[in-house]
Amino acid sequence: MKALVKAEAAPGLWLRDVPEPTAGPGEVLIKVLRTGICGTDLHIRAWDAWAQGALEPPVVIGHEIAGLVETLGRGVDTVDVGDLVSVEGHLVCGRCRSCLGGVRQLCLNTVSVGVDRDGGFAEYVVVPATNVWRHPQPIDPEVAALFDPFGNAVHSALSFRVLGEDVLITGAGPIGIMAASVVRHAGARHVVITDISTERLALATKMGAVTRAVDVSTTSLDPVMAELGMVEGFDVGLEMSGAPAALHTMIQTMAHGGEMALLGLPSGEIPFDWDRVIHSMLTIKGIFGREMFETWYAMSVLINAGLDIKPVITHRFPYTEFEEAFDIAASGHCGKVILDWSGA
Ligand SMILES: [Zn+2]
Ligand SMILES: [Zn+2]
Repeated sequence: MKALVKAEAAPGLWLRDVPEPTAGPGEVLIKVLRTGICGTDLHIRAWDAWAQGALEPPVVIGHEIAGLVETLGRGVDTVDVGDLVSVEGHLVCGRCRSCLGGVRQLCLNTVSVGVDRDGGFAEYVVVPATNVWRHPQPIDPEVAALFDPFGNAVHSALSFRVLGEDVLITGAGPIGIMAASVVRHAGARHVVITDISTERLALATKMGAVTRAVDVSTTSLDPVMAELGMVEGFDVGLEMSGAPAALHTMIQTMAHGGEMALLGLPSGEIPFDWDRVIHSMLTIKGIFGREMFETWYAMSVLINAGLDIKPVITHRFPYTEFEEAFDIAASGHCGKVILDWSGA
């Protein structure tokens, strides 16, 4: 089968013919329809310091996967052949304290699809049946491929009560924009999103969920907050960029007792205004992945209730044009970029 392989310990990705995987006991083989390009994949293609520490070539990468169940391994009775599914890309051990306690997202031994084992930039992928989300109602395969990053957004956005609250979202990439839609749906009053990309801010505005989309390279938040009649600061902050300046701005503009969820991965250590954190009595929560499977349930319910996240997809390419797709994703002048494997 065709697959995008991190074949060498060097920058780049290689479209290769590799053996088709087979489903072992408890696993399912999925015929891939769509796979989203994630920031993680860009790090791996660039072969930066993070990627060099995280991945041992050769690995088929890609973890934002939607496809059809093709075959079932022995003992699998939770899905049927032909089901349209999305993949939860974090495989947990099932034996550590967190797994046994039912909070699998906290597993100490998490293995990532498309990093630690072969992923879904391929015609077929094998994952444990416990990592497959069967959609309870018909869904567009493109939207199904968004469920991994949509889950990051939902996990962050529903971490704190937002009903009637003012929410600051720093970073208008696909996850930040989807998080804006979720907090709006959950009853937030003002939703202010920031970025330095005009395309991304325009996309956030177009999706209709934000009160203000602010280019922080030219505008500070103070006049925006004054215009909105905000006196005490933001009640909830969702940091989606990993940019030191964004984190700094968030801490400075939170209300006393404000709650922050941090998802954006910084590329190194960030000096922190701890005095502000302490005197403002802020709560800070780190977000990695999705709650298994409460977030997945919430995602399906939100989509079923009419939440439309599809406009966050701005570019689609057949897998053969992966170089161009990755270049656009890396440029930042886009929302979500999706590869189509259905013609393979
Ligand atoms: Zn991802
Ligand atoms: Zn575990």
